Formats: sequence, C-alpha cells, structure tokens
Amino acid sequence: MNCLLISASALRRAMTNSALQPEHTSLAVVRAAAVLCTNCELAQLGRTQVVFGSGRSDADVLIIGEGPGAQEDAAGEPFVGRSGQLLTRLLEGAGMSRNDVYIANVVKCRPPNNRDPRPHEIAACSPWLDRQLQIVNPKLIVTLGNFATRSMLGTKLGITKIRGVEFGFHRAGVVATLVPTLHPAAVLRNGHRAFEQSQGDFELVSRRMQELHT
Ligand code: SF4
Repeated sequence: MNCLLISASALRRAMTNSALQPEHTSLAVVRAAAVLCTNCELAQLGRTQVVFGSGRSDADVLIIGEGPGAQEDAAGEPFVGRSGQLLTRLLEGAGMSRNDVYIANVVKCRPPNNRDPRPHEIAACSPWLDRQLQIVNPKLIVTLGNFATRSMLGTKLGITKIRGVEFGFHRAGVVATLVPTLHPAAVLRNGHRAFEQSQGDFELVSRRMQELHT
C-alpha cells in the first residue's frame, strides 16, 4: 500500500461531500480518503479493499465500469484478470494504452457474489466518482456494459442498442462526450462479433481523441 503524507485538513476536505473545487485536491488525496470509506454497506459485506481507480490523472479518456470483481478486490486495481486483459487489448488495438486513460468504477467496493450495486450504494459512492471526473476532467468517457451506461446516462436503453453512439455528458461540472460499449466480460462470452463491435467503439474513441490534438 502506498504511504502518502496528507494533511488532516486535506483528508477532511476530500471526505466531505460538500462542493470541493478540483484545484484544491488531487487524486492521491481523494484516494487516501476513499480507501477509508464506510459510507455504504459494501464496506461490511466482504470487501478486501476499496478499488479506487487507476491511470493518468490528466487523461483525455475516462473508462467507467460497474464495480470490482473478485480479482480486482484482491489486487486493488480495476479491470485485472481476463476482462482487464481484453480491455488492454481493445485499447491497444485502437492505438491507445492503459497509460493513456483513467479507469474507474461506479462503485469502489466489491458487491457480494458479484451482484449488481444497489441504487443507494451507487448514490453513496457517487461523490468519489464525481471527484475523479472533476480532477481527470476527461473529454471522452467510455462506459463498459449496461450497468455503467445506465448509471451514467440515466437511460433504460440496453447496451446493444446504444453502443458506439456518442452522447453529450454533463455531470459535476464536467462536459464530455460519452460512448457506451460492451463490457469486456460480455465480449468474452459472446465471441468474435462482440469483439469487433467493441473494437469499433474503441477506434471511434481513439479517433475522437486524436481530433482533440489536431
Ligand atoms: S462502495 Fe463506495 S460508498 Fe460504499 S463503502 Fe465502498 S467506497 Fe464507500
């Protein structure tokens, strides 16, 4: 575990749900507060640790999944294991790497038996995601799978209907383009066609990222 020297006042600010200006904090400060979080029952339902997020703090692209699984809970990092390896492959196939992006989940603690996070758990965890959004301030957001997409867009539409579509996104003062795509675990289950669709979605994101810099 990383040891961080963080003042008590900075820690208190990061843990407070009231408005916190991004310039007043950093991901390291917010992470240090988040790893102590007990704001919902997922803290008591068997988590090994809080899986905060990983990647570049100034990434153009923020990738958002549902929540940690068993391997992520053990490693303390999002998207490890087979789904994580596929995510890395999809990024690299589109000319990006994990070092180019920031990866987070809607909830930071593993739900028991990999059940879906519940609405009050998502609400309790949303200030952490808001802070990640504010600090990273991405131009592009990729949601992985139905759950993250529905949570971030507030839609009931299924992922197969809206994957690869560009949506305007505005939350916590962040304005970005959001592209939903399939969850890597679903791609692993559904074979080549799903892989091609997901690869196409990441290529779209990569093109948009390149356009930001031309
Ligand atoms: S899921 Fe989020 S709100 Fe709930 S205990 Fe974990 S970090 Fe805190």
